[in-house]
Amino acid sequence: MTINNELVKSMKIYAEENNVPIMSDEGISYLTAFCMKNHIKNILEIGTAIGYSSILMAYTDDKVNVTTIERDEKRYLEAIKNVKRAKLEDRIELIYNDALDVKIEGEFDLIFIDAAKAQNIKFFEKYKKNLSKNGVIITDNMKFHGLIDKKEEEIESRNLRQLVRKIKEYKRYLDNNKEFETIYKNIGDGLAISIRKRG
Ligand code: SAM
Repeated sequence: MTINNELVKSMKIYAEENNVPIMSDEGISYLTAFCMKNHIKNILEIGTAIGYSSILMAYTDDKVNVTTIERDEKRYLEAIKNVKRAKLEDRIELIYNDALDVKIEGEFDLIFIDAAKAQNIKFFEKYKKNLSKNGVIITDNMKFHGLIDKKEEEIESRNLRQLVRKIKEYKRYLDNNKEFETIYKNIGDGLAISIRKRG
């Protein structure tokens, strides 16, 4: 399937103009290459925003199916429009709900966590049962725009300090996880790639 470059460009402009956080160019290039290299076919995404990463992942192969969850109505409605424009309605299922409330059936070979950063542990714990045997969980924003490497006192906003603490807590959770092994990629805003430990 050929990429609709006009659509991709217009989604990036919309995101910029409306302050919608979408994956960085570097991050999405890595993610889509990862999907192709690992023959990823079934994807669960937590955090659709306007459908940008869902659409680009679906473009990696005609057999890719994406289920994606968004709790913000305006973004969800925008994602519906974009998925229609991309002619991917039959391969991208958009769910309007809080990912912590919705029940998702089935198994996925990639679970992409890109929603409220403070909830990452909860998303991971809730959705690991939906991961196929050799599946991968990828989490974005592990660097949190460079704030992770800053001293706490250098971060002025209390909210941001709390979020940074939460991301560090998530990293400790991944590092000490008995079931999963995680590697970190210094790509885009920082990716964590978690796979089940063997044996
Ligand atoms: N993956 C998108 C992309 O790169 O095109 C970007 C997603 S954006 C970083 C995160 C989105 O997650 C926001 O639109 C936010 O409304 C949504 N979100 C945050 N917490 C959520 C939750 N608990 N359930 C569903 N969506 C959530």
